Amino acid sequence: MELHADYLELEMPELANHLLREAGQVGDEPTNPTALLEYLKLQFVMVDLAALLPGQKKQPRGVLSYSDRIVGVDVSLGGSAHRARFTTMHEIGHYVLPNHQNDLYVCDEQDLSIEAMIEVEREANEFAAELLFKGDQFTRQANDCDITPESIKTLALQYDASFEATARRFVERSARECSLAVFGPAPGRDVIDTSRRGRWQHRYTVSSAEFRTRYFRRLLGEVPTEVIKKLVVPGRDFADSIDEEIAVSAATGDEHRLHVSFFTNHHCVFALMQPANARGR
Ligand SMILES: [Zn+2]
Repeated sequence: MELHADYLELEMPELANHLLREAGQVGDEPTNPTALLEYLKLQFVMVDLAALLPGQKKQPRGVLSYSDRIVGVDVSLGGSAHRARFTTMHEIGHYVLPNHQNDLYVCDEQDLSIEAMIEVEREANEFAAELLFKGDQFTRQANDCDITPESIKTLALQYDASFEATARRFVERSARECSLAVFGPAPGRDVIDTSRRGRWQHRYTVSSAEFRTRYFRRLLGEVPTEVIKKLVVPGRDFADSIDEEIAVSAATGDEHRLHVSFFTNHHCVFALMQPANARGR
């Protein structure tokens, strides 16, 4: 397959930029996965993967059949345009990345998430994010914005990406000191347990390089109940945050004051942190 031979010398970001350029996806419009598929002469199918590939341990969400030139996305993602877009770009990653040599990739929920354990799955996710956020274009824009949920919302709409993926990229690529902690609903029991309702537990934290070296790697624990009560109400806008200042102790023993914006996409609660004295700078 000559595409692989051509791309062997290229690093992942260069490869993503090359593909975006060749498929006419440079510019302000969101990346169109159909144009990428057409350029690569790949066929796209939306299909019931569990029925097609029985015997998989976990529910498959995306598939690449290299020799058939088919990218498949599971029908369960039919109602989630952002996840279907990301999955398509992830499978394109398996197709073009030179060290992805399998003829068949079957990718489940975990493979497509930040919790992916397998190296090639992480690479395919990284590649998909490069395509989705157009390499350095997003990074340049994000670094010109204030560190606020409003900036993240604006960029998510511009790139047609989920709020969560955009928030993560915003912080990871920031040249400034900022961190994002993501909380999910505490696991429920079989029956509705009122004592557990409304609890949101830490899932993961991502931080900019600047933040990691000066403060901490992750924030543990739960979102304060008072914040949850006000925040998780029907219809609350993503950018409508609850802002607080907290004191944290760094590894050196110094105490720092952080500005925290809590906001929600109604699946997760986010805490966007930055040094209190850097706000608005
Ligand atoms: Zn995969």
